[in-house]
Amino acid sequence: MRNRWYDPNTGRFTQEDPIGYAGGSNLYAYAENDPVSYSDPYGLSPDTIAYADSASQAQTEQCAAMSDQCKRMVQELDADVTKWTIRQGSLPSPNPGNTRTQSIVNNGVVTRVLGGTITIDPNNIPAIQNRLGIPVNAGVVVGHELGHAMGNLIRARMGNTPPGGMCGESCATLFENLIRRDAGMTLRP
Ligand SMILES: [Zn+2]
Repeated sequence: MRNRWYDPNTGRFTQEDPIGYAGGSNLYAYAENDPVSYSDPYGLSPDTIAYADSASQAQTEQCAAMSDQCKRMVQELDADVTKWTIRQGSLPSPNPGNTRTQSIVNNGVVTRVLGGTITIDPNNIPAIQNRLGIPVNAGVVVGHELGHAMGNLIRARMGNTPPGGMCGESCATLFENLIRRDAGMTLRP
């Protein structure tokens, strides 16, 4: 793993989607206005997606291989200055994925997305399949979480996005269904 740039103690705004794939919301935030140090606060190169382990990279490659939409999302997140880490981790059942997005907030609106951490728990895939009643694989889970990241990035670029208005479940499901369509999989309702 190239870096562990994410630091919960920086004081910058953090948004969490702890339910992730399973739906619902439990967003929380803390904020400090610090736009000046944004440019590269951790002194790292201005790319990319970092993989914490080989499984995370393989799952992301699976997503890109099954869907051009997923491949474009990976490329876009790689090209942007935001920094995303994808890692394996333990999440509460039936949640196979989680995206935490780190942003800067000024006067109550999100002005910049810095990046975030995506956690994948493949052990929960059978549970989410039971809940949804449609096939789920690790590539789709990564794609859903990349959807949260991509949606947050797009909304921040548009400006005037309140913290609670970032890319939640319905937003991420739009991205997920583009991936499912590419892969010939049943869409999520
Ligand atoms: Zn989600």
